[in-house]
Amino acid sequence: MTNAKSNLQIDSARLWNDIHETATFGATPKGGVKRLTLGPEDKQVRDWFRKACEAAGCEVRVDALGTMFALRPGRDMSKPPLGIGSHLDTQPTGGKYDGILGTLAALEVVRALDDAGIETEMPICVCNWTNEEGSRFAPAMMASAAYAGEYTTEDILSRKDSEGITVAEALDTIGYRGADVVGQQKFSGFVELHIEQGPLLEAESKTIGIVDRGQGIAWYDGTISGFASHAGTTPMPLRRDALAAFSEVALAVEKAARDFGPNAVATIGEIRIENPSRNVIPGDLTFTIDVRSSDSKIFDRLHEAIRAAGAEIAARRNVSVAIEKIWRKEPTIFDARLVDAVESAAKDMGYSHRRITSGAGHDACNLASVMPAAMIFVPCKDGISHNELEDATQADCTAGANVLLHTVLSLAGIASSGKTNS
Ligand SMILES: [Zn+2]
Repeated sequence: MTNAKSNLQIDSARLWNDIHETATFGATPKGGVKRLTLGPEDKQVRDWFRKACEAAGCEVRVDALGTMFALRPGRDMSKPPLGIGSHLDTQPTGGKYDGILGTLAALEVVRALDDAGIETEMPICVCNWTNEEGSRFAPAMMASAAYAGEYTTEDILSRKDSEGITVAEALDTIGYRGADVVGQQKFSGFVELHIEQGPLLEAESKTIGIVDRGQGIAWYDGTISGFASHAGTTPMPLRRDALAAFSEVALAVEKAARDFGPNAVATIGEIRIENPSRNVIPGDLTFTIDVRSSDSKIFDRLHEAIRAAGAEIAARRNVSVAIEKIWRKEPTIFDARLVDAVESAAKDMGYSHRRITSGAGHDACNLASVMPAAMIFVPCKDGISHNELEDATQADCTAGANVLLHTVLSLAGIASSGKTNS
């Protein structure tokens, strides 16, 4: 059995076919996928996924937020299943791999176990989490966040898209408002395979990223109030120019992230001048700051540095600068035992690997707050995702799925009374 276990591989061609077959649901002319959550194309892929899971012998359940759970029984049904999977929705200009690889690889793991006649000790649950992307309904990763208790189901069901359609209505329209209470499906742990969506693995020619941390995120809303006055008649020393002050704030935010780097990034993505006019000195403006780090202490120090810079600039320029934190999500520390299991699987399979931090948020990051969780990354071309150019090789996708398979074997265990051939 040891040999059968260590030699076991997923069916690379079958996984690759599945990735390309499901990419036809919402295919874009440029080779990407547009499959907004709970839309008609999402229904198509969900129906496909349900059928494929049932054909692989799983029972598929759906919860009140549309998350799909496909259960493959284990020998010991008193144990909660090991969860594996990701999401099947995409950005409006999405690719074929973000989320899809992790979901279809999880299905492929079940099929590979079936083909090898292996019964696991613990049951396995293949998951498709609703609305990971957040492009149609906010927040992103809403189903896993509700699962983790960050939002109530009612709150999420009432969220609206840009046309005023609620999550509840969208679920009903495609027939995916399930009967299960959110959180009813328990897990022993959760492992998510995903493309890296960053450049590190490719740059270092590594096949597997063993994700041990996820970045935390803090969002700030800023306002600067100076004094709007005539662009021609107000002498420079008398101006209280909100935009000039903002320029210093922007550079201070950039400097703070650089000073605390490489484990810190900060971005000002939005700025709005109130009542802009080419011949008026800007009086009031608002802006946003997005700060990320995988280290809570660095988070705190960035927070202090940004607030101190705002206060100093305000005093020197005689304007008011208010920078208010509106959201903070602590960094994710993935479960050491699960992370080690991923690392052992990568080593056993002979794949090059490195430890890595997830720069993006994932469902596994939400789940990590309520269960042991881990992630596996594989490279994507030029680190590009959320773009129709998103690309990954068959060899890397296969490697990731094989690492997932062997992580599952080690965590779920092979039933000693199992139907193995040995
Ligand atoms: Zn994703």
